[in-house]
Amino acid sequence: MSEFDLIKRHFTRATPGALLGVGDDCALLQVAAGQVLAVSSDMLVAGTHFFADTDPYALGHKTLAVNVSDLAAMGATPRWATLAISLPEVDEVWLERFSAGFFALAAEHGVELVGGDTTRGPLNLCVTIFGEVPSGQALRRGGAQAGDEVWVSGRLGDAALALAHLQGKVALSDAEYAACAPALHQPQPRVALGLALRGIASSAIDVSDGLLADLGHILECSQLGAELVLEAVPLSPTLRCFPQLANRCALAGGDDYELCFTAPCSRHDEVLGVAERLALPLTCIGRTVAGRGCVLQDAAGLTVHFEGYGYDHFQ
Ligand code: ADP
Ligand code: MG
Repeated sequence: MSEFDLIKRHFTRATPGALLGVGDDCALLQVAAGQVLAVSSDMLVAGTHFFADTDPYALGHKTLAVNVSDLAAMGATPRWATLAISLPEVDEVWLERFSAGFFALAAEHGVELVGGDTTRGPLNLCVTIFGEVPSGQALRRGGAQAGDEVWVSGRLGDAALALAHLQGKVALSDAEYAACAPALHQPQPRVALGLALRGIASSAIDVSDGLLADLGHILECSQLGAELVLEAVPLSPTLRCFPQLANRCALAGGDDYELCFTAPCSRHDEVLGVAERLALPLTCIGRTVAGRGCVLQDAAGLTVHFEGYGYDHFQ
């Protein structure tokens, strides 16, 4: 199969929301009046971000999901994506499953694949995603104010627990693995939450490298510190069964793709209203404070020391 047949068969779908999609030198995209483009790229490399034998359907989902998550964290509406893919060989069955997973999530979020690049090489998947956000309304990392509440969506640490199992660092029962594996393989980007938080949250980030690392980016950009209550960090019932791993998975695990955001205390009830409307748990885990650094406290208010702040490819 030629490169062009491959693109046609596996990566070409209708793109009614684009002026021009796959097939020319460039795609042509028009943003609506009053909106700005939000653009982000994320690359998934076999052996670094996933095992080469990962189910291709889940991989297609995740390749797009990690990008959609960045738009969610910005309060942007996903619109278009490009996919640069490097493949060791043309495996029809693999491509079929991969693109099915990719397009299923794309359909869920109204994302149109409008272009990309296809080459032979080590398995490598890079999506660039384009979204729209009303001018001036994006949820940036630098907007938190001292005294804002720090919130997190969903439950943290399940993806890290599933990964620890696959790495042989912990032995989960089949039922336990089944409960936490979807968080690792098919994360659900929190797009509706990002949109609902426009005008409420003062800053936001998606938790991809671990809560403390990602909250750390908000704090650094906003030039603030934070006081967090360890017991408040939301864990799944499965992760609660592994107390020796729970903090590490939930605070520094990564791959959660939940949103961490700040909002003024005066908006507390509005945030809870969003949680109810979206049927998504939103948990207040602490507050920002003047100064720098993140202090963790136990239920009695005593400082808990925690080493290791999340994933960094170069450390
Ligand atoms: P060029 O040589 O001009 O870069 P290509 O041969 O790389 O063009 O690609 C032909 C068309 O197919 C372009 O519109 C490109 O955006 C699209 N394309 C290539 N690979 C992919 C892919 N994996 N997914 C979606 N579109 C792709
Ligand atoms: Mg090209």
